[in-house]
Amino acid sequence: MVGNLDTVPELLKNFQYTTGEQHKFLGEYYRLMVSESPETGVLINNFNMILSVPDLKSTQQKEFVLDMWYREQAEDVFVEAMATAIIKSAPYKVRFPDLKIYRLDNRWGACSPKNQRVILNLELIKTPKECIEYIALHEMLHFRFPNHNLAFYGALGDLMFDWKEREDMLNRKFRLT
Ligand SMILES: [Zn+2]
Repeated sequence: MVGNLDTVPELLKNFQYTTGEQHKFLGEYYRLMVSESPETGVLINNFNMILSVPDLKSTQQKEFVLDMWYREQAEDVFVEAMATAIIKSAPYKVRFPDLKIYRLDNRWGACSPKNQRVILNLELIKTPKECIEYIALHEMLHFRFPNHNLAFYGALGDLMFDWKEREDMLNRKFRLT
């Protein structure tokens, strides 16, 4: 999928959850196929995203089921990205954090050294894995370097040489607002 659809933040789209609608997952567009079924769920098949709900007329139900599926995927993908980030940042003696996944409006992630916590934005599940890995590492490094100073960017560049390209991709193709 190309064109200006790409520049509209997913959070600002007025989704109707009807067949044919395009929804993002891990950086790609998938074509929604809505199907009526007593069993709720989402299945990925090629570039189709098959959403099953008992009541096709309920937009709320479709939104909820898809959202739950995104959360399940995020649990897997984000935990893996955090594990990689923890290993990469080991030389900086960071501790193992508590990971929370929330939907945030204006930032991809956050780090709270006080609570030993990293928050990753659920919306990241719609962006490529490279971008998720970048945000995970970025937040991990804040345990050692709370501010965006030269030392922070030095460490980031050492651990991920192409971090800037990943950040640019987020800003260009997957804006939050
Ligand atoms: Zn930061």
